[in-house]
Amino acid sequence: RNIADLLAAAAERLPGATALIDTTAGVSLTWSELDAAVNGQAKALIGQGIEPGDRVVLRLPNSAEFVIALFAVTRAGATAVPVSPLSPRPELTSVAERSEARLVLSRDAEEGQLVATEPGEPLSSVGGDEDIAVVSFTSGTTGPVRGVMLSHRALLANVEQMAAVPDALREQDRVFLSIPLCHVYGLGPGLLQSTYAGATVVLAERFEVAEALESCAKHRITVFGGVPAMYTDLADQPAEELSAALATIRLLNSGAAPLHPKVLATIREKTGLAVFEGYGLTEAAPVVTTTLVTGYAKPGSVGRPLPGVELRLVGQDGGVAPIPLDPDDLDDTFDEDTAATGLVAIRGRNLFSGYWPDGAGGPDEDGWFRTGDVGYLDTDGDLHLVDRANDLIIVNGFNVFPHEVETVITEMPEVAEAAVIGMIDERSGEAVRAVVVPTSGAALSQQQVVDYCAERLAGYKVPRTVEFADSLPHSPVGKVMRLRLRS
Ligand code: ATP
Repeated sequence: RNIADLLAAAAERLPGATALIDTTAGVSLTWSELDAAVNGQAKALIGQGIEPGDRVVLRLPNSAEFVIALFAVTRAGATAVPVSPLSPRPELTSVAERSEARLVLSRDAEEGQLVATEPGEPLSSVGGDEDIAVVSFTSGTTGPVRGVMLSHRALLANVEQMAAVPDALREQDRVFLSIPLCHVYGLGPGLLQSTYAGATVVLAERFEVAEALESCAKHRITVFGGVPAMYTDLADQPAEELSAALATIRLLNSGAAPLHPKVLATIREKTGLAVFEGYGLTEAAPVVTTTLVTGYAKPGSVGRPLPGVELRLVGQDGGVAPIPLDPDDLDDTFDEDTAATGLVAIRGRNLFSGYWPDGAGGPDEDGWFRTGDVGYLDTDGDLHLVDRANDLIIVNGFNVFPHEVETVITEMPEVAEAAVIGMIDERSGEAVRAVVVPTSGAALSQQQVVDYCAERLAGYKVPRTVEFADSLPHSPVGKVMRLRLRS
């Protein structure tokens, strides 16, 4: 099967229902119109000599054009390589070269071209299953940028795993997506999941809080796909306006980065709505766990694995022995006898086919893939992510996971955002350094940040230096790029 078959099925089942609304262009398409546009573009691509397995770069914002291009490329049997339209031109060039792309689809004529559609008879999809539907280049939050090869099988498996969760998307849903479709979070749980369900996708090119709230009200949005940075902005809105705009919402979803419990609590207080948090990674196409599995949003937890996804915690050396952590580091739900931290390893049909171009680094022979994330299970069996193993800071031999320190610093009302990184220190090996963005107009001193941490954290975790900044570097889905702060 081919991911474009999801579209064909929706067109057959719900031909006249609204498939997508492009709020920026003011365009709306039914499933049958979308399917026909995809056929036409797939034919045009084939007419231009695109062959099965060829790579086609999509340099397009969240728009009808993106959706048409994605399904047309895959229906023609080729591989889509999405690139953020906001990334600098050299990044596009580098991805196009590395993926040996045959074509770049872009609105900017200097970068590539858009392919005009050729109307005609319906077209059946070329290829599927183990063929590569998408090569997704990660944003390189923690390491070098890598191309993750996602087969049709992996993407479809994740869609079906998500559909098996209570409260999964359904036909009547109207799903707001300003998270970029070029990132696998927008593409999989956003676009593909909506297509599978036959739900209406409401696209915005960017997230701006007032525009997003207006769209939610106007289009009677029932499901909001978001990342923590968006919920931070939403939580800042006056309660009345927020709950009025979100009146038709049944699900607020967050993923891609940790959601601060303070934000979850504020949104619940102001609207009565819970924000459900998911954990995923490009290599898992992408969803691994979500609090939707249990049906309750638990602060600090990313829930449980999707049905069909196996999860276990393994030792850093590759063995299965869990790594005990200092119990003082863990929250109330941690039970020493039953829980321990380890690297999150996962197995399931949703896993990738290795990294571009040769498939290196994929799941091991037993089908397990070791993520770079450290986590633990609480007594309910819910997963908590401690941090990324690569970001671990070692101070005098003690482990400091930056996320814990960041969570404490951002509790301060004067703090909008914080990132914690290690710096080389002659005496302690590494020392903790915090980069803090104060809320506008707040008076905050470095000493106040240090004192606040010292009251709440073990001494070795307290930042040795605190720097103030106007903003932090973010990836296209709003992740803090700690690596950039280190360099
Ligand atoms: P890199 O390039 O370093 O692989 P990336 O951020 O570009 O990173 P993605 O696949 O986009 O790659 O991100 C996956 C990572 O995002 C996960 O491994 C995890 O560290 C983090 N992540 C995803 N969801 C959550 C969540 N709910 N809470 C905390 N971290 C999360």
